[in-house]
Amino acid sequence: MTDRKPMIAVLTGAGISTDSGIPDFRGPQGVWTRDPDAEKLFTYEHYMADPEVRRRSWLARADNAAWAALPNAAHLALAELERAGFPVRIITQNIDGLHQKAGSTPRKVLELHGTMFTVRCMGCGERGTMREALDRVAAGEPDPACLSCGGILKAGTVMFGENLDGETLSQAGAIAKACQVFWAIGTSLTVQPAASLCAIAMTEGAHITIVNAEPTPYDVIADEVVRTPISEAVPQLVRALLAAHGNG
Ligand code: NAD
Repeated sequence: MTDRKPMIAVLTGAGISTDSGIPDFRGPQGVWTRDPDAEKLFTYEHYMADPEVRRRSWLARADNAAWAALPNAAHLALAELERAGFPVRIITQNIDGLHQKAGSTPRKVLELHGTMFTVRCMGCGERGTMREALDRVAAGEPDPACLSCGGILKAGTVMFGENLDGETLSQAGAIAKACQVFWAIGTSLTVQPAASLCAIAMTEGAHITIVNAEPTPYDVIADEVVRTPISEAVPQLVRALLAAHGNG
């Protein structure tokens, strides 16, 4: 037993939020598993070129389960680990804000793929809230344009075909390099560059645990692979860490 707490980097994906009622993309009940055509709604090229894709995309945003979703036991356990004094940094591919809702300190949560709660004009860069944009959709504008320049509005999320924010990505890389413990939770580890953070952490000697129902390409480099459902597995991992460092 030691009281020196390890730095923990946690890479989360859509699978951590399925128990909060938000479907993932590639799991058995995933959005794309059920409707491969849905990929277009999340692809920058299609979104920018096709008003019909944008119309469907706004309707899907309005209907998104994340508006009403609550954090589950996994999000809450990660927030508890931070409260217990562990240096925890969350790098999430999710856009649903559930780590922050669970109580993780917002500046310690890196949103690699942005957030669904803001919008941005692709012409002049002006930002606004998703709520305002969706109010305009509900009032009869199927594809609301920027009120300043008339440009195309888009959610503050990173679509396929768009670059990630450079500063966020370099912070994520630095966290993966510096941590002693790296957990990848609820991600198929097929979306780059997020998935490669596992390899960075492994190269620097971190202890890697992957929690995912299905196999991932990085299972072979993990020290531990856990197939238990995430909302059971993550509280167990957290309890074990707390107990090992005298907080149990
Ligand atoms: P993914 O859909 O590719 O993979 C999710 C993985 O989680 C699957 O392998 C699935 O088997 C596993 N999983 C799902 N529920 C689980 C559970 N309860 N217990 C154990 N395993 C479970 O997700 P990804 O790797 O995050 O990539 C998808 C992309 O889509 C990301 O970029 C993300 O931004 C976005 N996305 C986000 C949300 C969200 O914000 N909640 C939802 C859907 C998609």
